[in-house]
Amino acid sequence: MTYQPDSNVRWIVQHYSATPIERDFTAADIDAMHRQRGFRKIGYHYFIRKNGEVETGRDLSQPGRFETGAHSQGENGASVGICLEGGATRAAPYVGVDNRTPAQIKAQVALIRELLVRFPNAKVEGHRDMPGSATQCPGYDAAAWWASVARNAPTARPAPVVAQKPDQSERQSWLVRILELLTSLIKGKRT
Ligand SMILES: [Zn+2]
Repeated sequence: MTYQPDSNVRWIVQHYSATPIERDFTAADIDAMHRQRGFRKIGYHYFIRKNGEVETGRDLSQPGRFETGAHSQGENGASVGICLEGGATRAAPYVGVDNRTPAQIKAQVALIRELLVRFPNAKVEGHRDMPGSATQCPGYDAAAWWASVARNAPTARPAPVVAQKPDQSERQSWLVRILELLTSLIKGKRT
């Protein structure tokens, strides 16, 4: 097992497990999957379950140094990896989506804040933003998400429910208009 000095850390990289949100996966499951792929063990430093439980993977318990991860090819010696359970659905297993639960986001925010104390020069980014990556992971713009978290109150969620309401009513009024139009067309044909 190899270690790097803390001063190496330039990124805190967000991932999803690319597993269907309808099913439960633990760090142990991801560990088994990664071993199957030839990794020594789970490649991430942290795994956040849908219920917000934070499980540990690669070692960060020692002062001044961290275990090299296996989560972002080319940057493993300079980054810490956080993986969130989910990111896909049964219906669309190959489409990366942001289906983080509120409990996961809360735990993710707390964990990132904690890590930024230890790694103050690290940037919060998504796997897909890393140099040379070709992935949809983690299914959302993690840098923009983190910027909005940092701007707002410590516990704020990036997409407030209130903001979706006018959107929905607008969509509904469009639907009503389309229905009215269709009805008038059908009536017009009959007469
Ligand atoms: Zn990833």
